[in-house]
Amino acid sequence: MKIAKFVFNPIMENTYLLWDDTKECIIIDAGNCNDYENTQLASYIDKNELKPVMAVNTHGHFDHLLGVAFLKERYGVKFALSAKDEYNRAAVKSGASLFCITVAQDAPQIDIDLDTLDCITFGNTTLNIIKTPGHTPGGIVLYEPKSGQMFTGDTLFQESIGRTDLPGGDYSTLMHSIIDNIIPLGDQIIIHPGHGDKSTIGHESLYNSFVVEAINGEVNY
Ligand SMILES: [Zn+2]
Repeated sequence: MKIAKFVFNPIMENTYLLWDDTKECIIIDAGNCNDYENTQLASYIDKNELKPVMAVNTHGHFDHLLGVAFLKERYGVKFALSAKDEYNRAAVKSGASLFCITVAQDAPQIDIDLDTLDCITFGNTTLNIIKTPGHTPGGIVLYEPKSGQMFTGDTLFQESIGRTDLPGGDYSTLMHSIIDNIIPLGDQIIIHPGHGDKSTIGHESLYNSFVVEAINGEVNY
C-alpha cells in the first residue's frame, strides 16, 4: 500500500491518498477546499493514473470533508462516513463559517455507513475499521495490519488527543477508545493523524501525556 499526504484548508488538515498495485485508490478525509487544492489533489491522482473509488472519513467534522463533493463530482466516488456523524455532515456550512471559510455546497449524502462495517476494501487492500468514539460519536480509525499503518483522524495525534469540547465529544469515551482499542494493537504501528506529523503507538505510549497518565492510573477516565 502506498500513501501520499496533503495538508489542506486553513485548519491544516491532513488528507491521505492510499493506493496499491491495482491503481485503485481511496481518499481519507478529503479536506481540499478551493481550486488550487482541488487541482493539487487531482493532478497527483491523474499523473499517477490512479482510480479513485471511495472518499472515506474518520469522522464528520467540516475540515475533513470539504473536498468530498469535488471528488464525487470528478470521479464518482462513494462517500463513506459513520451515520453517527450525520449531524456533523449536515452542519458543514455552519461549521466552516465559524472559521470564516465559505462553503459553496453541502457535503454529499452518506453512501456507505461505516458504523455497520468492520472493514473497507479497495484493489487488493483491506483496511480494518476500529470504532473510536469520543472526539465525535461516529469516529473511526482505519488500520491495515499487513503494513502496520493506521489512520487516526482526530482521535490520536502525535503527543496529543482530539478535542472533546465540541458537540458530541466526550473525554471518557475518547480515552477508552484510545487505551482499550488502539494502544494494545502494538508499539510498532505507525499512526497517521488528521493534523500534524505521523508517529507510532510506541512513541505515544511513552511521550503522549494524555495516554501516559491514563496508563499509569494518574487520572480517572
Ligand atoms: Zn475533528
